[in-house]
Amino acid sequence: MIPEEIRAFVAQVSKLPSIGPRQATRLAFYIAQQGKAAITDLRDAIDRLLELKNCEQCFRISKTINGLCDICANPSRNQGIIAVVEKETDILSLENTRKFTGRYLVLGELSKDAVLTGLQKLRLNHLKSFIQQRLAGMATEIIIALNPTTYGDLDASLVAEELKPLTKKISRLGRGLPTGGEIEFADDETLGSALDQRK
Ligand SMILES: [Zn+2]
Repeated sequence: MIPEEIRAFVAQVSKLPSIGPRQATRLAFYIAQQGKAAITDLRDAIDRLLELKNCEQCFRISKTINGLCDICANPSRNQGIIAVVEKETDILSLENTRKFTGRYLVLGELSKDAVLTGLQKLRLNHLKSFIQQRLAGMATEIIIALNPTTYGDLDASLVAEELKPLTKKISRLGRGLPTGGEIEFADDETLGSALDQRK
C-alpha cells in the first residue's frame, strides 16, 4: 500500500524529463527517509530556481540583469555569430570548449514530429528582428547546433530555411559528432573539433 503522500510526490516528479514512475517512487521513499533538514534544503533549492528567468535575447534560463544573461550582456562576445541550440545544457558544453565566442539562441525542446512549435517560431522571429535591428539585416554566421539525430536533422533544415536569408554563412555543427550522439554528452575535444570543422 503506497501512502498518498508518496503518490502525490510521484505524480509531480514523474513529469520531469527522463524520470519514470518507478524512479520517482524510489526517490520519494529515499527523500522521506532523509528527514526534516534534508527536505528543507531540497525545498529551498527548488524555491531558488524561481529567481531565474529567460534571457530576453537568447531565451536561456539564467540569472538576468536588465533582462539579459551574462553571455548576451558581455560586450566582448561576437554579436554577429549565433549558435542555435536546443537547450541550456548544450550551451554549457559549447562554453566548456572555450572555442565559441558568439552568442546563442535557445530553441527549446525539439518535437519528434519534425515541425517547429509555436514557441520555437516565436524565438526564431525574435532572432530575425535582432538581426534586422542590431546587425543591419545580416548575421556573419549562424551555426545550427542541434543534435545529429533523425528529428534533429529535420529541425535543422527547417531552421536553416528560416534563417538563410539573414546570414552570410550558415553552418551545421552536428557533422563532426557521432550520428545520434548528443552535444550535451560529447567530450570537450570532440565538440571543439566539431566546432573547428563546421561547414
Ligand atoms: Zn542571453
